[in-house]
Amino acid sequence: MPAQPGQPHWSTLEGTSGVSSGSLSPLGATRTTGKLLATQGYVVGIEISGSGARQSVALADLGGNILHRVRRPLEYVPDTKTVLRLIDDMLAEALTPERLNNGRILRVGVAVGGLVDATHGIVRTLHHAHGWNDFPLQDYLSERLDIPCIIDNNANAAALAEVQCGAASVTGHSSRNAERVVLYIGLGRGIGGGLVINGKIFHGETCTAGEIGHVFVKENGPKCSCGGYGHLEAIASSEAISHAMNELSGEYPETEAAIRRVTGARPERITAEQVFLLAAEGDKVAQGIVQDVQTYLSIALANIVQLINPGVIILGGQVAQAGDLLIKPLQARVSELCLAAANSSLRIAQSSFGSEANIVGAVTLALQDIE
Ligand SMILES: [Zn+2]
Repeated sequence: MPAQPGQPHWSTLEGTSGVSSGSLSPLGATRTTGKLLATQGYVVGIEISGSGARQSVALADLGGNILHRVRRPLEYVPDTKTVLRLIDDMLAEALTPERLNNGRILRVGVAVGGLVDATHGIVRTLHHAHGWNDFPLQDYLSERLDIPCIIDNNANAAALAEVQCGAASVTGHSSRNAERVVLYIGLGRGIGGGLVINGKIFHGETCTAGEIGHVFVKENGPKCSCGGYGHLEAIASSEAISHAMNELSGEYPETEAAIRRVTGARPERITAEQVFLLAAEGDKVAQGIVQDVQTYLSIALANIVQLINPGVIILGGQVAQAGDLLIKPLQARVSELCLAAANSSLRIAQSSFGSEANIVGAVTLALQDIE
């Protein structure tokens, strides 16, 4: 790959590698994402989020095993240039000649925390960040790295990973076959959803299928990151839960003291899981917030179950770290709200990958159709 102005990291990587550029650009100008026959080589997964909180790169073998991982989380919302530079940095650090051992990188998968037109490889928008509107990230990376690249929404990527090797796979639940209709919901800073039907991501007409965060659930509800009101994300995302806990605790000294206790006197750092634990300990403010999360999340889920009749709904992201404190009551409420026939074979499960779901999803995207 020729060194280009403004791309110092790749130039550095190449300059110090002592290997020909051919080992880093195995497929030349070919950027097809069709089927690929390969028995050796590697794939790369990249995770980016609008908030800046999640940026990482993973080098994986063709079995999907992550061999090396580089993270560059940020505490501020970065602009596009900063994120692209970070990706360069992380790739240079992850893809050293020693790790590649003359092996080829066959494909790069990118899981993006925002609206993605996966058909055309374009980032439509990232709700927390500016500068991404209609950014052709797939072509940009494919050309820059000279490696075929595939991008998708992070929840779609995570959903595919759960089907192939997680909570919805044959190995993840050995008594059943792999699920045919799977819904993954990432309850993170925002709320994303991904739908996998018969092993394939279902994108919908304009690639917004599964965007459950923006389902309307509450009349006169709080403002959402998208600008709308009463959307699920504004009530049940980790940010909404933490924000509500600090906002509502003002008149309750006992709750304020409990927040200080669990956060080491950093109330702004309270997590959704901690709010669920405080609710379980009997804190009334936390109980009210958890009650709202259960109520509105169950309404959204029940409506979706009624429409698509999934075999499993997998919950990931920070809120899902609450585990059974979230899932058991939710399963009961969804079951009350749905027709028995729609609910009879439904499981609600926690993600197999925890906070790694998006990067495992990115690797899974890269491995699609490599045989
Ligand atoms: Zn919204």
